[in-house]
Amino acid sequence: MGVSPISEGSDPPFFIIFTDLDGTLLDHTTYGWKEAVPALDICRRGGVPVVFASSKTRAEMDVLRRRMSLSDPFISENGGGVFFPRETFSAPPPTAIEAPAQECQKAQRDHGLWQWTMGLSYSDLIKRFHEIREELGWPMRGFSDMSIKEISALTGLDKMSARLAAMREFDEPFIILDQQEPDKETLSEAAARKGLRVTSGGRFYHLHGKNDKGEAMEKLLTWYRRRHRVTVSVALGDSPNDFPMLERADFPVLVRSRQRFPGLKKKISRLVVTVDAGPKGWNAAVLGILNKIDQRRAND
Ligand SMILES: [Mg+2]
Repeated sequence: MGVSPISEGSDPPFFIIFTDLDGTLLDHTTYGWKEAVPALDICRRGGVPVVFASSKTRAEMDVLRRRMSLSDPFISENGGGVFFPRETFSAPPPTAIEAPAQECQKAQRDHGLWQWTMGLSYSDLIKRFHEIREELGWPMRGFSDMSIKEISALTGLDKMSARLAAMREFDEPFIILDQQEPDKETLSEAAARKGLRVTSGGRFYHLHGKNDKGEAMEKLLTWYRRRHRVTVSVALGDSPNDFPMLERADFPVLVRSRQRFPGLKKKISRLVVTVDAGPKGWNAAVLGILNKIDQRRAND
């Protein structure tokens, strides 16, 4: 995975950015991205795909990417689904199917999405979530137990956005009431016995199948590599569920947050940690990487 892509012949490298949303491209509290607009504009103008990879749902991400005028693929619910906007991809990528229409997309009937399914179905997941809760006897509360009002209060999302967040397909976000520091090992083991995984995002624990953001990134990268001779991947994230992406990227970026991960730099020596949090850190990191490559090419 070492990076010497720009010295390989005369083909300019094809950049792909994989990015987490909450606390990374989006501000942790306000969900705004204004400070990342300069770098986003450069990506859009330069044809650099900005691939969202989040624990958010397809419904939330499809709205967001339209608001940012992006038409690149995106990875939903911790790698459970990969979606390709049909306005960009008129033919389906290999093994992709037409994504089933959702209630909220009725107004956008002219577009639609192709889909790769990597995760376990939500109904299966919830069944096993109940079994794990029973087995551990812990007061675990998932999105499937919550009203839209409760999800809105916990996330700070308005009602409309909370409704989109509740349209789960592959991942159950949950909290554990009355426990400051739950035993994560016990939790992971209970999930593993059901063939599932638990990861930590910025606000919630997430229960999902064996998929993760890194695997979905790998699958998309393989597909891009068939279309472009030299690809360079950048990955940005702020939480442990982003680490599988950072490990795989040519340019891994940890966006600063309140959490600290002292061991991560040892594991990923190329890791860059931003000075600023959220979209401000995102903007500086992406501009820095794109500039560095431009300069190296100019010096070649
Ligand atoms: Mg995050």
